[in-house]
Amino acid sequence: MKKKRGKENILRDYFMYFCQNFSVMYRTHNCGELRLEDAGKEVILSGWIQRVRNLGGMTFIDLRDRYGITQLVFNLDQNPALCEEARKLGREDVVRIEGVVRERSNKNKCLPTGDIEVEAKKIEILNRSELPPFTIEKDTDGGEEIRMKYRYLDLRREPMKKKMILRHRLAQEVRKYLDKAGFLEIETPALIKSTPEGARDFVVPSRLHKHQFYALPQSPQIFKQLLMIAGYDKYFQLVKCFRDEDLRADRQPEFTQIDCEMSFVEREDVLKVFEGLIVYLFDTILQIKYNGNFPQMTYREAMERYGTDKPDIRFGLEITNLTMEVKGKGFPVFDTAEYIGGICVPGSAGYSRKQLEQLTEFVRQPQIGVGGLVYVKFQEDGSVKSSVDKFFSVDELMKWGEHTGAGKGDLLLILSGKKNRTLFALSELRLEMGTRLGLREKGNYSPLWVLDFPLLEWNEEEKRYMATHHPFTSPLSEDLTLLEKHPEQVRANAYDLVINGVEIGGGSIRIHETTLQGRMLKLLGFTDEEAATQFGFLMEALRYGAPPHGGIALGFDRLAAMFGGSESIRDFIAFPKNNAGRDMMADAPNFISKRQLDELNLRFRE
Ligand code: ASP
Repeated sequence: MKKKRGKENILRDYFMYFCQNFSVMYRTHNCGELRLEDAGKEVILSGWIQRVRNLGGMTFIDLRDRYGITQLVFNLDQNPALCEEARKLGREDVVRIEGVVRERSNKNKCLPTGDIEVEAKKIEILNRSELPPFTIEKDTDGGEEIRMKYRYLDLRREPMKKKMILRHRLAQEVRKYLDKAGFLEIETPALIKSTPEGARDFVVPSRLHKHQFYALPQSPQIFKQLLMIAGYDKYFQLVKCFRDEDLRADRQPEFTQIDCEMSFVEREDVLKVFEGLIVYLFDTILQIKYNGNFPQMTYREAMERYGTDKPDIRFGLEITNLTMEVKGKGFPVFDTAEYIGGICVPGSAGYSRKQLEQLTEFVRQPQIGVGGLVYVKFQEDGSVKSSVDKFFSVDELMKWGEHTGAGKGDLLLILSGKKNRTLFALSELRLEMGTRLGLREKGNYSPLWVLDFPLLEWNEEEKRYMATHHPFTSPLSEDLTLLEKHPEQVRANAYDLVINGVEIGGGSIRIHETTLQGRMLKLLGFTDEEAATQFGFLMEALRYGAPPHGGIALGFDRLAAMFGGSESIRDFIAFPKNNAGRDMMADAPNFISKRQLDELNLRFRE
């Protein structure tokens, strides 16, 4: 009887047959592979010339490929012709070499192949390179712009390679986890109908259907809901999303989501699965064990305690509302403010005048935009010093201390003004102080679920409510009666995953029946007709037995950046756009030919 082979074994057999038998014409080994045990072996390597160094009678070359760097050595006395040839090689030339592995006398502990070198016997130039516009080594002299223009050269650099590998590994582990949990990876279309979801759509003119346009998906939101209606109760996809938004720092017009949806679930079910995913990724990618459940906090609590809906909870320095305490005591700045809040900074009463001035400047920056900063120093000797001594007695200041938990040695920082603006400024000041005090450690990951966001936001420009999340998010059932009377008070059954103050993703339990979806669209200002043209197919599908469902999408680029300990998502995308949304390498967007325009029936107005 034939023995049943396990999946791993089948994979190994195929690998041995197809991959191990590749031609040794170009290489017997890669450039990161050879070790001391290989000494004496005859090898063939192919790769790029990173550096050529001539030291007396010897020439050393660092040969690089995706796997690492191997030192090649040429001896002028032993083989003058070959050595001369080696000396003529330039950076980034592509070569094939044959040689013998030797133990190195001068070992390089920083390099995995640092115990050996390959004594070259033959060089073959496979392709010459022009002088690259920047150094292709760990550290480069190339600025951001030039590296973006020659991204394929930048990607040859070790730090970039590590980022691409991390992204690949993350993707594989995400797939492994979700597959194990019973999710099916199903692709959804990239050419869809333009349906308002929050941001502006990128549109694509149709040649075959005159005057009609496709849109690129802002996310597969409607499609994944249709998959639930189709009965595929656990769906996921690593998917490109497109949003034509005004550019903000570290945003990309196209980005990747880990997009998921589940049927017959409540909020806690979704949170459990994706909390599990993050814990699994912490473990497999970062070797960090996360114990316990992720804390949860309502939107309202997050705003009150941290002034933001994405708090960094690696550290305290929470906000205290001081409005009742300090208003109406004759200090005009406080008396005219809608909201006054403070942060107690432990052990910082010794802040100098210069440091306080810097903080004042910080909160006055236009993007933060409050008028000034009030401070109270609770000094070690028990005395109190503040910028409002003229208006408040020591007893009053001591009371503020009690209220905010500030004791001897602590510094109380107070901001005031319009409520939302002041809370925002306090949250920025809190982060700044967290950074200054070294409380935002890189290797420390503090995830948090933020729940119960407002369902709607008033848009002053359009004079209508907009969905905070998207129009398909379900209100909390206990708030349903408020929907038409007090829409602004209705909470959504929505959740965000925040890690270290960064929004990693968000989702919601969806509306799964037509009447409620209709009420929601009406609230958002869609007439019945508009709702039918824009969302008709979803409204119809909801009538054919839509199960209760909900889901989430995590920003994959951002997750990769966070796991890589970086703030920039651009570094984790092989071919990103720059801050102005341009592809600097391909030079896109760009004009199209007259013929293309004609075929599409498009004409410019000017
Ligand atoms: N489609 C949503 C988004 O892209 C995520 C979700 O609700 O699942 O933000």
